[in-house]
Amino acid sequence: MSDLVLVINAGSSSIKFSLFETSKTDPVVLFKGQMEGLYVEPKFSAKDADDNKVANETLPADAPKTHDYALRFMLEWLQTRIAGRSIAVIGHRVVHGGTTYSKPVLVTEDVIKGLEALIPLAPLHEPHNITPIKILQDLLPNVPQVACFDTAFHTTQPELNQLFALPYEFAQKEGIRRYGFHGLSYEYIASVLPSIDTKAAEGRTVVAHLGNGSSMAGLLGGVCQSTTMGFTALDGLPMGTRCGRIDGGVILHLMNHLKMDAKQIETLLYKESGLLGLSGFSSDMRDLQESDSPRAKLATDYFANSVVRETAALAATLGGIDALVFTAGIGENDAHTRQAVCHQLRWLGVDLDETANAVRSGEPRRISLADSKIAVYVIPTNEELMISRQALACIA
Ligand code: AMP
Repeated sequence: MSDLVLVINAGSSSIKFSLFETSKTDPVVLFKGQMEGLYVEPKFSAKDADDNKVANETLPADAPKTHDYALRFMLEWLQTRIAGRSIAVIGHRVVHGGTTYSKPVLVTEDVIKGLEALIPLAPLHEPHNITPIKILQDLLPNVPQVACFDTAFHTTQPELNQLFALPYEFAQKEGIRRYGFHGLSYEYIASVLPSIDTKAAEGRTVVAHLGNGSSMAGLLGGVCQSTTMGFTALDGLPMGTRCGRIDGGVILHLMNHLKMDAKQIETLLYKESGLLGLSGFSSDMRDLQESDSPRAKLATDYFANSVVRETAALAATLGGIDALVFTAGIGENDAHTRQAVCHQLRWLGVDLDETANAVRSGEPRRISLADSKIAVYVIPTNEELMISRQALACIA
């Protein structure tokens, strides 16, 4: 029976997978796992539907450490567990769709060429998204593949919110514009909002995707109007190791005065800044919240303050705000950050229910008081499920 959807999320050093079955109305996960440490010391791990660990192994030292081998290994592992069933479609997370792809697309040779043309817009990520597509074309030539984009959800932004105030030709000819990312997460949140709060679903909702990578988006009736990430996933909020919003003049100063070259600046902005740079010791929110170091407090305060600032800015683009949603690792789990943000947004009409905010749960929940002008929710995101839905819809 051909009823399974394989979701692939590949990066430079890891490949994550989720296998869904589709006999129910919405795909249901059967296995999920990853091969991490590619090209160094690959380790394979997997969990079943109940979150039990069902694999955890380091590959033999003489095994190839490549994407190609990792995908073969994963497929063989899955094949032994899905006897009699087969994969109907493979959905891939692809970071950049540029202005070409505003929705998921069935992979063809032309699409692969289209994706390769976008590599200059995301040189650190796009090649690693394309490689598994090509490998799986060889390994499973009869299984359709669908590319699902992190940028697609944001193509609905009005042009004003997509532009930088550079000469207009830079947007038109060079594609230098605000694309926005984490679109699969926002799309998932938009898809579940109607069952949680119809006013939020139909109205003005700001979604805060706060994780290692963080961004926010303003949705009007579930459609994106504005977002904090821009040309790259560096803009907007500070992140684990990325600086977020920065004055372009700082880059010029680093080059001209401190004589840093492009590679050094890239490392500084992407790997040494954000929570790590401000705290001086960790990019992990849990470490910072547990620490009594003043620099940890500086980092967490800066983070919360940035979320507050961007909430107000996004609300302004929506003409007001009916609901605020927290999601992703920090948004779903860190009551301190949510509390700091909500307290600073009291003036806007946010009234936090402190007890509800302190509850730990993996379920969507309201954390504002019943009479809060702005409803506040914690909603766990599920990008893999979104990809599986998009892949299925694409071949339907
Ligand atoms: P993500 O990239 O969505 O997996 O999120 C990773 C971030 O979530 C890291 O900064 C983690 O420290 C943070 N995180 C995960 N669990 C918790 C928790 N229980 N409390 C605070 N932060 C958490």
